[in-house]
Formats: sequence, C-alpha cells, structure tokens
Amino acid sequence: MKIRCSDIGKEGLHIVTYRKPEWLTNIPEIVSEGEETHISSNIDFDLRVTRVLKEITVMGNLRFSITSPCARCLTPVDLTLSPEVKLVLSPAPVFKEEDEEDDTDYETYSGEEVDIGDYLREVVAMALPIKILCREDCLGLCPYCGANLNVERCSCKEEWVDPRFAVLRNIKI
Ligand SMILES: [Zn+2]
Ligand SMILES: [Zn+2]
Repeated sequence: MKIRCSDIGKEGLHIVTYRKPEWLTNIPEIVSEGEETHISSNIDFDLRVTRVLKEITVMGNLRFSITSPCARCLTPVDLTLSPEVKLVLSPAPVFKEEDEEDDTDYETYSGEEVDIGDYLREVVAMALPIKILCREDCLGLCPYCGANLNVERCSCKEEWVDPRFAVLRNIKI
C-alpha cells in the first residue's frame, strides 16, 4: 500500500480502502478458508495521513474478522478486531527515549513514495489473539466423554475429582 508524498496535501490524506485476505502474505496459515482459524472478512482500512515537512504520520484503524475454535470447547467463534495504527515515518531514524505511554511506531522511508504494506500486515499479525474463548466462563469439554459442558451435563462429572485434590489425598499428614 503506497503513499505518494506529493498526494498528502495541507488537509492530509484520508485512505479508506480494503484488501482481500490473500494480501496477508506474512501469515498465509490463516488465509485459507479451509483452516480452523482463518480470516473471515476483507481487511478494511481507515487511515488519516498527515505530513509536516518530511515527517509523515499515519493514524487510524484496520478492521477485519477471524473465525477460530474456542480454546476450551472448540465451538467456532467469530471475532472482529480493529487494531489501531499510529505510525510516524521520517527520512532518518528517530531516536526516542523509552516511554511506556507512547505506543507510536517509528519507521524510516526514502524517496517520494512510502510503502506501508509490510507495516500494516504486521499490525494485523500482532492483533491476532493467542487464545480465543467463546465466552469468558466457557466450561469446555468433559475430559472423559467429550460432551460440551456449556450445552449439556454428562454423568461423568459426579465421579470426577479435581486432579489437584487427588494429589492432596495421597499425601499422608
Ligand atoms: Zn467455549
Ligand atoms: Zn462426560
């Protein structure tokens, strides 16, 4: 996704566009619809680009959906993510003091054109959650019969002893 410096006018530049999932060449493992975890929408961009002298600032959001099985009960979950973009591009590296409050990214560019495609692909990759749950208190599957405990109660449960207590029972005091 290229930005031409000369296209950034006084009012800035508003980029509203989208890319198909295949655009995510950095994470091909979640692009195919056959995968359990995959991108289930296009990637929408809403970015505002401004320029002060040679420093270009890109602010806005990406928006896309993913489908992934719940980590506990395996039910497919649809999730819409909208990671923020805060990027400052300058011709020379900017040395900033470590500041935990500052979540702005700094990159360099040269020439009259900036390609922020790789950067935006990375924003998508970083936004992917490590673990997805269908709900915070998902009960998961019964370890014995595989029943989804969110929707049914199996009879295994009564005999089931929490393994942490089972260990305690073996300790002779
Ligand atoms: Zn679940
Ligand atoms: Zn069971």
